[in-house]
Amino acid sequence: MDYIIQKIVDTIDSDYEILSVPLRAEHYAQFSNCYAGVTEKVRRSGGRVQYGWLVAHTHFLCEAVHHAVWESPDGALLDVTPYHKPTDSILFIPDDRYIYDGVPIDNVRINVSGKLIVDDFIIIAHLVERIRANGIRKDESRLVMSFELGMLHNKYVNYGQSMVSYLGKEINKVPDECFCGSSKPFANCHHIKLWEEIDKDIRGIPDKLIHLQNYF
Ligand SMILES: [Zn+2]
Repeated sequence: MDYIIQKIVDTIDSDYEILSVPLRAEHYAQFSNCYAGVTEKVRRSGGRVQYGWLVAHTHFLCEAVHHAVWESPDGALLDVTPYHKPTDSILFIPDDRYIYDGVPIDNVRINVSGKLIVDDFIIIAHLVERIRANGIRKDESRLVMSFELGMLHNKYVNYGQSMVSYLGKEINKVPDECFCGSSKPFANCHHIKLWEEIDKDIRGIPDKLIHLQNYF
């Protein structure tokens, strides 16, 4: 896994090293909005916001998610955002170049498995974020999109979910057959179909998302 983490570090290319940052969640901080939680922490306790990337991995994907932690007045970093599973520290790469100001910042994603389907999943995860970046954020839980954009969004979310449940098995037990049940190899089935659809769909989606990796 160390060399995968190194690949993430190299892709992000921050001026800082990757760190282990302690996590003590504040009761007012929300999993889905680290920026608001850290802003509130600064209001209550002083210090400042440190932007950067939270690094985490599954059995098929290593991801860096744009993230904010709190820097105390004496310069110590602390994550105040609750995590989706119990942990007392996170892996974090500080990065001063990308400041969250309402423009969404896409995750950095590295294929850990070597499977072709994971390469395509990464493209689809990016595409979903690119579609969402064209919606209008009404509040924390509401993103408004045109009908056409909403249809595209649902289509690629569904593709992504099919792939994730297929990849939910141990990675060396993932069969070569496509997830759609056609019994053809993935490489000769949805790998081709997906790219035909993506080629057609991507033209209508302006690129408003900040992303460090280029896919198209
Ligand atoms: Zn298929």
